[in-house]
Amino acid sequence: MDLEYTEEYKQYREQVRDFLEGWPLQGEEANLSEDEQAALFRERGIRAGFVCRNVPAEYGGAGQAPDALKDAIVRDEFYAAGAPGDSISQGAGLLVPTLLDFGTDAQKKRFIPLAISDRERWCQGYSEPGSGSDLASLQCRARRDGDDYLLSGQKIWTSNAREADWMFGLFRTDPDASKHAGITYLLVDMKSPGIEVRPLKGMTGGMEFNEVFFDEVRVPSENIVGREGEGWAVSRATLIHERNLIASPTMMRDTFNDLVDLARRTIIDGRPALEDLGVRRRLVEIEGYVRTGETSNMLQFTASVRGEPLKAMRPMMMAKLYSTDTMQRIVRCAYDLLGAEAMYSPAPEDVAGWARNATSTGWVEAYMFSLGPAIAGGASNIQLNIIGERGYGLPRDPRPPEA
Ligand SMILES: Cc1cc2nc3c(=O)[nH]c(=O)nc-3n(C[C@H](O)[C@H](O)[C@H](O)COP(=O)(O)OP(=O)(O)OC[C@H]3O[C@@H](n4cnc5c(N)ncnc54)[C@H](O)[C@@H]3O)c2cc1C
Repeated sequence: MDLEYTEEYKQYREQVRDFLEGWPLQGEEANLSEDEQAALFRERGIRAGFVCRNVPAEYGGAGQAPDALKDAIVRDEFYAAGAPGDSISQGAGLLVPTLLDFGTDAQKKRFIPLAISDRERWCQGYSEPGSGSDLASLQCRARRDGDDYLLSGQKIWTSNAREADWMFGLFRTDPDASKHAGITYLLVDMKSPGIEVRPLKGMTGGMEFNEVFFDEVRVPSENIVGREGEGWAVSRATLIHERNLIASPTMMRDTFNDLVDLARRTIIDGRPALEDLGVRRRLVEIEGYVRTGETSNMLQFTASVRGEPLKAMRPMMMAKLYSTDTMQRIVRCAYDLLGAEAMYSPAPEDVAGWARNATSTGWVEAYMFSLGPAIAGGASNIQLNIIGERGYGLPRDPRPPEA
């Protein structure tokens, strides 16, 4: 198997790198707020054809022809440069592809341009207390009232709800229909009267989760995505995009390299941990997982470039589970190497994301953080069920989850 990129794609990578020379912003622009800098750079990225490549120009996107390899190159290079790219937000990463599939023309024109630049922020209102894996059991009500809906009930684990301008969410419009048929996908203005957002403190000390309460919140019926009672199908599309975003071979490789570096710097019995046979075996085993993830990713690209979507299905289903599982192996190994040092709890403001440029506190944070993606967007057990049932045709789990 030849895993080399062709000349055309190598040149494309160079073009992306040239563009990324412009990040971080310099001069006067560096004094703008972080959000403003990110929005500005994303808008430049769109104009240059790199950010939101596949979003049609009429909706504010770059309007480029679909090309999975170019998408991957852009994703890798933006990640390496720490620049704001496609997957930065729930709006650009999750809502936009869903609207492109299911939205009306008016919705696409109204919402996509501001979502892709991240000038309008979105949050995802799916989970409820008691409805996570078994999402279709959700109870948050949307009652018809003339041309509007009135929302009442509660969502939970809503990431970034306090900063969000809008929510895309699932609401029960028909409590008498079968549980999947009574659900509608709505776009909710977070400034509407009757919405209360209460932060939840996570184990890393951050407050990125929230509970959202609705008390007779009015939403115009033109904010339905898809049709009333057909929200389940729309939500599936968003979830597939979410799982693909969570799966990241680049992040796996990057974090693994940091782990090897840590093993080089950590001294056990007077010698670098990297010289210890047990540590070396563990690193080789993990490297095997990382390489398998990379190869599986390449197989997906190949299938996608050749227009073989069905063949790509199994690797796609496995990508999220595999990526989160391997990330946990990497950070657990780092955690073990650090020994007692790992016990120091990091102050939240000292903490970087994942294990990029990991210090000992960075690794502790990375370990705690690694637990979340394995649950978000459908927990690992549910991914196993999906792979078994839809990927390999095994009998269905008799229990109810549908995530
Ligand atoms: C980092 C993070 C961000 C999140 N962001 C959002 C967000 O923005 N918006 C939102 O709506 N939600 C969000 N969530 C919530 C997430 O979608 C749910 O936590 C997830 O779907 C699991 O639901 P639950 O927490 O209710 O767990 P449960 O469904 O109660 O599951 C508990 C455990 O039981 C297992 N289990 C359940 N059913 C089965 C079964 N049939 N077979 C085998 N095992 C089973 C699960 O795998 C899990 O280990 C986020 C979660 C995390 C961790």
